[in-house]
Amino acid sequence: MKDLEELYRNSRLKGCPVCGHSLEYKGLGEYFCSNCNENVYDDYGKVRKFVEEYPAASLVQIEEATGVDKNKIRDMVRDGKFILAGSRRGQLS
Ligand SMILES: [Zn+2]
Repeated sequence: MKDLEELYRNSRLKGCPVCGHSLEYKGLGEYFCSNCNENVYDDYGKVRKFVEEYPAASLVQIEEATGVDKNKIRDMVRDGKFILAGSRRGQLS
């Protein structure tokens, strides 16, 4: 799954979206800004966090809540990053 690794690497944040300060990468799409003292999430981190909070959410609900393109979310699911309620890996409609 080289393409997905590439995708995640490309979606990594280079600086804090609020203040522009450099971020400390904590893993799994989560970062910490020592200037804002806040956790920051990239696309993968946002989706992961939302799915953890709302495990029954549908693809469309996740897209609406996180602003991440559903095709990208679908790729993450297909890659086994997430398992969505009512769907099986690789069988999302
Ligand atoms: Zn910041």
